[in-house]
Amino acid sequence: MAWNTLDNMDMDGKNVLIRVDVNVPCENGKVLDATRLDRIAPTVLEVLAKGGKPILLSHFGRPTRGFDLALSTQQVVPALAHVLNRRVHFASSCIGQVARDSVETLPDGDVLLLENTRFHAGETRNDRGFAKDLAALGDIYVNDTFSTAHRAHASVAAIAELLPSCAGRLMEEELSALTAALSKPERPVLAVIGGSKVSSKLELLRHLIGPMDQIVIGGGMANTFLAALGHNVGQSLCEHDMQDTARAILEEAKADNCEIILPLDVVTAREFKEFAENQTVAADACPRDSMILDAGQKSIENICKHLDQVKTVIWNGPLGAFEIPPFNIATDTVALKVAELTEDEKILSVAGGGDTVAALKKSGAADSFSYISTAGGAFLEWMEGKTLPGVAVLIDSAAST
Ligand code: ADP
Ligand code: MG
Repeated sequence: MAWNTLDNMDMDGKNVLIRVDVNVPCENGKVLDATRLDRIAPTVLEVLAKGGKPILLSHFGRPTRGFDLALSTQQVVPALAHVLNRRVHFASSCIGQVARDSVETLPDGDVLLLENTRFHAGETRNDRGFAKDLAALGDIYVNDTFSTAHRAHASVAAIAELLPSCAGRLMEEELSALTAALSKPERPVLAVIGGSKVSSKLELLRHLIGPMDQIVIGGGMANTFLAALGHNVGQSLCEHDMQDTARAILEEAKADNCEIILPLDVVTAREFKEFAENQTVAADACPRDSMILDAGQKSIENICKHLDQVKTVIWNGPLGAFEIPPFNIATDTVALKVAELTEDEKILSVAGGGDTVAALKKSGAADSFSYISTAGGAFLEWMEGKTLPGVAVLIDSAAST
């Protein structure tokens, strides 16, 4: 798999359309968290340094029918100018005369941000006509938003077929990290899959059996597997109608030589609340009136012992109800172990998922992971082995040049 990067493109004097994600949390027109803007800065500044004119394209929120002032990208202009330390101009439409005029009059060294692409119905329909209108503004297309790569939208997919295209630095970083962890990992490779439900991660589990050597199943979804093995799980979160599926996954894994690591012991409580009275019991001994809220000490030690033997770790889903202490212990302990092994350069570690990122940050382990993907849906679809339209077009574009 190959894609062009900023290194392969001649940008001098060119109008460079950069698909970014400026969809940051805002309140009353003020940016509350500029993390996403910080992350696109390297690409924009590099394009400027190479003599290109950066023209930024982005969606913002989910407009339902055309223009909506609350979802205008204009509100991020001051924060973007601050992050980039450059003048940022704004075009009140991303296509047509207004946009063309703004591009033509853009002074060298300045940046242009176009209005929300989703104000046009053609964006989410991946409409080729709309993509042509966008492409008419630039000579080169750069996609720097992995987080939207799973959507076949015009500014992500169709446009890349119309212009010489490449990945921005942020996109490149994410693609390299995910490829290293999943497509050609150094072995043995272990996945930690937790979270609440088997049903939401079924495709993920199925897909991982092939590429993984070991899969740790934790969190609420482990309960369904314990039930499938005939264990009583009391009042635990458990999808009893998924037991056949869980058994099928265990069979498939066995046939494919992928070791499934389930909890050996579990922490149970009668109530789902902070510091609820709790006890640790064997995985087949959850009291009928209790629920499993975390993995126990033996399970943690077992997971850590496996981690000592592997070279690559990929993680999605917490091992327990980490939001309510002390049921964060398994997630935190295992996260810190992965962090330590990563710091010691014994493993490469990649993690992603909304709650996973929150849990890893809370545990203090996140900064030591090799890569934390904030891409949410795109990260999960990548892990599930799906082709992401925004990535596929970059690969096609590189192949045709
Ligand atoms: P992600 O967003 O990272 O993909 P999920 O949404 O699949 O993760 O799962 C996270 C949720 O799973 C958390 O809210 C956590 O409290 C819950 N969870 C994990 N283990 C348990 C459990 N044993 N019982 C109830 N909820 C659990
Ligand atoms: Mg979640």
